[in-house]
Amino acid sequence: MSRFHWICESTDGAARAGMLHTAHGPVATPTFMPVGTVGTVKAMTMDAVRSTGAGIVLGNTYHLMLRPGAERIRAQGGLHRFMDWSGPILTDSGGFQVMSLGALRKLDQDGVTFRSHIDGSYHRLTPESSTDIQHALDATITMCFDECPALPAPPETIAASMRMSMRWAARSREAFVQRTGYGQFGIVQGGTEQDLRTESVKALTDIGFEGYAIGGLAVGEGQELMFATLDTTVPIMPQNAPRYLMGVGTPDDLLGSVQRGVDMFDCVMPTRAGRTARAYTERGTLNLRNARHATDARPISPDCDCLACSRHSRAYLHHLFRANEILGPMLLTWHNIAYYQRLMRQIREAIIEGRLDELATTLRANWAAEDWTEDEMPQPAIPPVP
Ligand SMILES: [Zn+2]
Repeated sequence: MSRFHWICESTDGAARAGMLHTAHGPVATPTFMPVGTVGTVKAMTMDAVRSTGAGIVLGNTYHLMLRPGAERIRAQGGLHRFMDWSGPILTDSGGFQVMSLGALRKLDQDGVTFRSHIDGSYHRLTPESSTDIQHALDATITMCFDECPALPAPPETIAASMRMSMRWAARSREAFVQRTGYGQFGIVQGGTEQDLRTESVKALTDIGFEGYAIGGLAVGEGQELMFATLDTTVPIMPQNAPRYLMGVGTPDDLLGSVQRGVDMFDCVMPTRAGRTARAYTERGTLNLRNARHATDARPISPDCDCLACSRHSRAYLHHLFRANEILGPMLLTWHNIAYYQRLMRQIREAIIEGRLDELATTLRANWAAEDWTEDEMPQPAIPPVP
């Protein structure tokens, strides 16, 4: 069995193409991880997820500990077997979800007590219990339990929160059971304050993890400030370990973050959009509920080999969403995940071939075209006049 490690294969500027080796197989990076919060990538079968080329999926400690419970999943052979995903799984620590419960939670230096959003029952998560639960789930990648303050917040609030998260990171590491092919990631906090981010990177690298995540971004600060934070934080992170930007983002966010040296992403956007009739394409986004798709016989995207694009028209998808048929979200989620995976493959190839900036210019120009109307369909390239 492979030990858990990441190998850099190519660089292009700050961007990296690499391979993450794990107990559950390798993952080519940069990679986008579809979100499978409660043990399912919503509206998709696991065969559909696999068909998009996804290499790793996400699960969530908070949701799974409440229902069906970590011990029940362990008794069923772990999360891989339970959800029929033999590849690597990364589990969120539950910290982010618990923090977003607001009045339903009480935070202290040892951990968090909270009430279940399902039945109001009381539960407690600490760095130790979160790590234990992720072990019971058999997560390939365990995340440290941390606190993620909402932005904007005063610097002293962010500093105190970050320092507590760093103490929790040390406790999470202590509780982590080392197994061949399994890893644990520390999470860099510190809001958009550079001195705090620097202090956080140092605290985590002193402890030592198999990978490092950047948390506390994409929480309302905007893309410009997010990129500015990456510009100063990523270069001081370890070179030989994977870097994971949590909860990000749009196709443009992914591209810009890869250009700044990020290797891994997760986000609910493509799955959530798929349930609300929004399609991501090479030419921006489409809302399939719009009347103009009602008679459109073209696929969502001619370049996509997902089931929605290879077998169905925009008119059919429009009809499914208007009729509230469950197949609409199923097909469109599949398409959106297929698009995100294709985008990551394109980006990875461009890094290897040293033409990422060129690809980025083309991608951004096409996304800016927004809705893909009839006369904007790509025409066959006309050869330049010699
Ligand atoms: Zn498609």
